[in-house]
Amino acid sequence: MKLSKNFIPTLKEVPADAVIPSHILMVRTGMIRMLSAGIYSFLPLGYKVLKKIIEIIREEMDAIGGQEFHLPALNPKEIWEQTGRVEAFGDTMFHVKNRDYVLAPTHEEIMTYHAKGTLKSYKDLPQIWYQIQTKFRNEPRPRSGVIRGRQFLMKDAYSFDSSWEGLDKSYKKHYKAYRKIFDRCGIKYFVVGASSGAMGGNKSEEFMVRSDAGEDTVAYCEHCGYAANVEIAQSVVEPVRRKGESKEIYEISTPNVKSIDELCEFLKIDESETAKSRIYIFKDEPVLILMSGNDEVNETKLESILGGAVRPAHPDELKEITGADAGSIGPIGFIGRIIADLRLKDANNLYSGANKNDYHIGGIDMKRDVPQAEYHDLRIVQSGEKCTRCGSELEVFKAIELGHIFKLGTKYSEALGAEFLDEKGNSSPIIMGSYGIGVERVLACYIEQNHDEKGILWQKPLAPFDVHLLGLNMKKEPVKETTEKIYNALTSEGYQVLFDDRVDAQAGFKFNDADLIGLPVQIIVGERGLKEGTVEIKKRRTGKRFKVKLEDLNEIVGKLLND
Ligand code: ATP
Ligand code: MG
Repeated sequence: MKLSKNFIPTLKEVPADAVIPSHILMVRTGMIRMLSAGIYSFLPLGYKVLKKIIEIIREEMDAIGGQEFHLPALNPKEIWEQTGRVEAFGDTMFHVKNRDYVLAPTHEEIMTYHAKGTLKSYKDLPQIWYQIQTKFRNEPRPRSGVIRGRQFLMKDAYSFDSSWEGLDKSYKKHYKAYRKIFDRCGIKYFVVGASSGAMGGNKSEEFMVRSDAGEDTVAYCEHCGYAANVEIAQSVVEPVRRKGESKEIYEISTPNVKSIDELCEFLKIDESETAKSRIYIFKDEPVLILMSGNDEVNETKLESILGGAVRPAHPDELKEITGADAGSIGPIGFIGRIIADLRLKDANNLYSGANKNDYHIGGIDMKRDVPQAEYHDLRIVQSGEKCTRCGSELEVFKAIELGHIFKLGTKYSEALGAEFLDEKGNSSPIIMGSYGIGVERVLACYIEQNHDEKGILWQKPLAPFDVHLLGLNMKKEPVKETTEKIYNALTSEGYQVLFDDRVDAQAGFKFNDADLIGLPVQIIVGERGLKEGTVEIKKRRTGKRFKVKLEDLNEIVGKLLND
């Protein structure tokens, strides 16, 4: 492809709205342009890479027996109402104004719709159906370029089985295919245990890339390899020990004391002597959550304990439910369900809010004074806590979710009535799995992991072209002639060559663009070298340059690309 005739609008400046390297570099190399918040156009250079990723995904999905579909993005709302997901997605779902349609944020419903009545017998199962298609989600905070978009490409696959053992097999096939896909793309990733959410399902794993730009947080044990999304991660934490004989409970005036830190400061006590209360609403009922000191409530854990979605109570609701504002709530006198963190199970002589503003209660013995409390692990794991498997220190860090594999079970087949007849002639819902990959995220994460201060560092599998051919002074006849020859020779060998044949661009400008775009191999053709029959080769990743005789060029390019 000749640069003089093609549209690769590179930029020198860092775009104002871009913060993370992949976003900056995708805009600067002319791979993407923003149309509106969270909505991006892929320009030819970016689309080339996207197509390479899609092809890798397609090959590996076909290799496990996947059959490719192409489903409509525009869906009748009715089907989504049958599974309760219009409500579950809430504002994240785009609704079409003049019809009862929605724009699909994923496709469990539609695939199940097609399975219904067509996969009738155990003999029709198993099946793996997939597609690579646009999804729409009204993300409240689209950011980091294409990593969180309102429109994005997903490879979504669905397995249909007649038994739970069958689902295990389909799940394992996807697990292996995902490893191959990300390995072939050259991405460093790891797999974490993840939450199946309040939606049911029994196992789910996420493929993650470590990155400060990530919006997921994971706990990782370097020693034994334990890795889990903090939504479900566990750690070994010391329980709060009993402190002496239990006193009677008593009220203390604590004017203007709102936080746990203020309470500790005011009473000159340790954090472990306090219990923090939070009110959540579950199915319109308040639930009081008790945590030790400054431990934070993990809402995902809470949702899986309760079996459905929760939300924190609003400030005005707090007053109505407890009689006090956020800083003065406590378990004594609270009417309703109380769930306490495991650490508090044995605790006594605790201080907590009095359900009366500016007052706290001391001398609380959990067993004696809060006998109705149910105990569960509710904490958000912190760095430095001990691994439950091996006792080493856990590290907690940010990560980007590339893909998610999920044993769905029968949630969708039950809701939509997709049933099959087993060997004995009994009818039961098809057992399903669901498996997603964010295609643009693969691209962005590759760049996050493969760039330097000058630009991107491509490797052969995803590189938009193999070779960047630079003619330094295209006005000079020998340079023009030789570069044309090299271009034709390499192209006919099957290499994809980006040829900077621009006549008016300065050498420095061409070098910068070549480093920015970052193709694996650069061939630099100048007048001086040609006088001795050589051109220069630069390996972009190492920056190493060397001279090559013209007749050796093909062979050396081949070698470098296969490195
Ligand atoms: P997240 O927690 O990041 O919002 P999710 O759990 O909503 O992701 P899934 O519904 O499991 O994601 O979708 C499958 C895959 O689609 C994700 O693993 C991710 O790679 C990709 N994906 C999800 N939301 C977006 C988005 N807004 N922009 C780009 N890719 C996305
Ligand atoms: Mg999401």
